[in-house]
Formats: sequence, structure tokens, C-alpha cells
Amino acid sequence: HLHNKFLDLKGNVRVFCRVKPFLDDRQPSPAVPAVTPALNQLLISAAGKKKAFQLDKVFLPASSQEDVFAEIGPLVRSALDGHNVCVFAYGQTGAGKTFTMEGSKDSPGIVPRTLDLLFHQSSLDSNKHYDFTFSMLELYMGSLRDLLVPAPRRISDSSPKCLSIQMDPTGAVEVENLTEYIVKDVNEASQLYVIGSRARATARTNSNQVSSRSHCLIRITMASYEHSCEYPVLSKLWLIDLGGSERLLKTDAKGQILEEGKAINLSLSALGDVISALQKRQSHIPYRNSKLTQILRDSLGEDAKTVMLVHVSPREEDVAETMCTLSFATRAR
Ligand code: ADP
Ligand code: MG
Repeated sequence: HLHNKFLDLKGNVRVFCRVKPFLDDRQPSPAVPAVTPALNQLLISAAGKKKAFQLDKVFLPASSQEDVFAEIGPLVRSALDGHNVCVFAYGQTGAGKTFTMEGSKDSPGIVPRTLDLLFHQSSLDSNKHYDFTFSMLELYMGSLRDLLVPAPRRISDSSPKCLSIQMDPTGAVEVENLTEYIVKDVNEASQLYVIGSRARATARTNSNQVSSRSHCLIRITMASYEHSCEYPVLSKLWLIDLGGSERLLKTDAKGQILEEGKAINLSLSALGDVISALQKRQSHIPYRNSKLTQILRDSLGEDAKTVMLVHVSPREEDVAETMCTLSFATRAR
């Protein structure tokens, strides 16, 4: 079983790093060498010094979307087998998180590939029947916004609909009032993804930076029915494009920008605390410190599988952020 490799060390958490390619013509000296000494090590050069970071896997600039998905596909399959799964894209704004998750038409990312794989793989198993649902929400400044609210409900209140997080006695987390669409095939799911992405992009026109200051979460739930069994096996798969992890420069952050930055830093550090507690197999996992970790409480833990895909820029001017990103990524080691 491919996915069994996730059941060994470190509480089923994997941390990968993807290095963005240089996209402009100039060829400055990169902070991240194009060749790393080992597949799972990244060497960063700054001010003549080199620092090595250990990860579970490194994707160099030449890595393709296929290369990345080769490591994600097994998790998607394990969600079909009943495991809860979280895939996070982490990193400073511009480092390639949305490219990895969404991609482009010619180069689709993790979300479209996951939808393809889910529906394809589930159709192959004639002993099981699957029901899928698709939801999409945004976490911005501590409040949750449904990205798939049907139009009639949206007209009645112009303010974002308030969603709250509930936990039932079995420990299952539910986001109250979150729109959940039953999806029968990959086309239905892809259409919802387009609608949700559009809602995210157009919500606050006077602030085009919002997408980098909020977390975008896609939730796919699955219920699998085996012919011999009355009760379904339930699981959740989360695909999460996190807000930009860049630190606030005290001098130029004020007002709204400062508040947004604080909200993001708070939720990212709460997420980092949870992931590192899971990696260290601590008995207390601090889920309660942010909405992000509260929502994901039942999907980040013992039986769940997590991949944190950290994104770094190859540019020398970003080296300080790159160091911060990699320290976040490797803090549990
Ligand atoms: P983020 O979501 O982290 O802010 P983006 O994904 O929007 O960053 O990436 C910034 C720009 O760089 C986009 O134009 C994107 O298409 C491009 N880009 C990012 N990663 C890659 C990559 N691996 N290959 C090609 N282009 C990339
Ligand atoms: Mg983005």
C-alpha cells in the first residue's frame, strides 16, 4: 500500500518544500541553490553563510505539477479509504502557493488533480459507492465566510454570512451554516471551485490584497458505502491555500494592514503549534488557539494525514523570509 508510508513516523505529518523558479530574465545569484546535496535537504545562502534545512522532500524549481501531485495522490487515495486529510500551502505572498493549489489551465495544480483522482478512483471500485460533498470557505480576520452561498441568500444580507464552529459529542467538527453541495462528478465539483474562487477574488474590490491576507479552505467530504455494510465510512479532505506568511515590518504596517497581519500571524503560529505538537506526539494538542485549528481539529490528528507544502522564493532579496519559512517548516525536528 502506497499510503502506508504515511503511517510510520511523526504522527502522519509530512513537510515538503517547493522552490519557485526565477521567472524574470535577469539571473541574479539565487539564495537557494538549484542543486541541493540531498533530495530532502535545502541549502540557503545568505551573507556568505550557508544553512541547511531538512525536510521530508524538496521540489526544486524544475519540478512540475505532476511531480508535486505524485506525492499528494497517495493521500487523496487514503481519504477514499476513510482517513481525514489536510493539505496546506504555506509561504510568503508570491512564493507560489496558489500556483501549487490551483495552477493554470496548462498546468493544473493540486485541486483540479485531486478532483480528477477522487472521481476516477472512486468509479473503479465496484464494491463501494461514494457520496461526495464540496464546500469552500475563507477565513479572514478571524471570521469565516462561505464562498458558495447561493445567490438568493446573498442578496438578503450584504454582510458576510456568519459561520460558527460546532463540535458534536463524538468529536466531529461541523461548520454551522456552511453551504455543502452534493457533487456527482468532476465537472460539478470543478464548477463549484470556479464559483468559489471567483467569490473570493471579487469580494472586496477596494482591497485586492485580501486573497493574500486570508486563508482559503476547500472541504470535500466523502461517505463510502460498502455493499455488505449499512453504515458509511466518513472522511474529510481539506485543501488549504494559507494567507501569506510574511512578517510585518513594524515601520510600514498600520491600520487595516497591521490588523490583517496580526490575524494571519496568530492563526499560522497556532497551526504551527498544532503541527509541531503532532510531530512530537505530545499528549496535549493546542487546537483551541485559533479558528483555523478549531475547524481542522478532527482532520489534524492521530488517524489523519497532513502535508504541509512550504513555498520559498529563490531570490536573494527574499532570503530573510525564506529563513523564517524554513524555520517554521522544520521547527519540530
Ligand atoms: P502566492 O499564492 O504564494 O502568493 P502565486 O502562486 O500567486 O503566489 O505565484 C506568484 C506568481 O508566480 C504567479 O504568477 C504564478 O503563476 C507564478 N509561479 C509560482 N510558482 C510557479 C512555478 N512553480 N512555476 C511557474 N510559475 C510559478
Ligand atoms: Mg495566492
